[in-house]
Amino acid sequence: MPQIIDGKAISAQIKDELKEKVGTLKEKGVRICLAVIQVGNDPASSVYVGNKKKACAYIGIESLAYELPEETTQEELLRLIGELNAKKEVNGILVQLPLPDHIDEGAVIRAIDPKKDVDGFHPQNVGALCIGQPGFVSCTPAGILQLLKRSGIEIAGKECVVIGRSNIVGKPMALLLLRENGTVTVTHSKTKDLKAVAKRADILVAAVGRPKMITRDYVKEGAVVIDVGIHRNENNKLCGDVDYDDVAPICSAITPVPGGVGPMTIAMLMYNCVEAGNIK
Ligand code: NAD
Repeated sequence: MPQIIDGKAISAQIKDELKEKVGTLKEKGVRICLAVIQVGNDPASSVYVGNKKKACAYIGIESLAYELPEETTQEELLRLIGELNAKKEVNGILVQLPLPDHIDEGAVIRAIDPKKDVDGFHPQNVGALCIGQPGFVSCTPAGILQLLKRSGIEIAGKECVVIGRSNIVGKPMALLLLRENGTVTVTHSKTKDLKAVAKRADILVAAVGRPKMITRDYVKEGAVVIDVGIHRNENNKLCGDVDYDDVAPICSAITPVPGGVGPMTIAMLMYNCVEAGNIK
């Protein structure tokens, strides 16, 4: 049977490490504060925002919640971001995506001070990752790196194949694996013979957004399989981009859904907040 990579346990460990760190910082008079902005009341976004606030409370990070109405204009949102950029006591700013259609997400992301961009979406932070400089890294791929490292999985010299090239998962994932000296291939919807390319992988990261697409036809025997997808199946149960029952018997390690990559995203957001508190 494969090693089941336990994202729930690893994320809990990271949160406990951060709680201790935040406690020590508090003793030195350093407080960490995250501002969370939500525009509109999309139910999924409200759940994510609620979970982020809960994680902050557990670790000892203060959170400021800005719940703005759906009709908020881009100008109003940018003004609020400007105010939060200027507030010394706010270390991190998070704007919950997606935003309503009348607001330009790119403009909003660019308005956040890169030193407070705990989501790691600002072009300056993406560029820093690209050229190997310090900066905030997008939370989901940063979490996957922690899953691999804390599970004792070597990346250097390995064939790594990332399926998906989104700005928040696929691309930063590829850059992180490259930074760890993996030999990285990025695949996408136009890739020819995806099965053959995926089968080269020692480490396969599926961030396709298609339920159970990755069957054992895509997986080399003994590969490590990381499943980023989150979907609800016909019975309202969570499943990933990987057909777990089909793939698990032939791989050496695999992340389950739920309980794999999912819990790591918030843990790494908290990690970025604590880092933000240490930036002068
Ligand atoms: P996205 O839709 O932005 O990107 C999907 C990528 O997959 C695209 O680059 C596309 O080219 C590629 N793709 C689509 N169909 C393909 C195909 N048939 N063959 C090859 N490539 C194909 O999605 P995303 O934001 O990167 O998210 C991917 C999945 O991960 C989704 O299920 C999402 O819900 C999930 N997700 C989970 C977390 C988490 O915290 N666990 C965070 C972000 C996203």
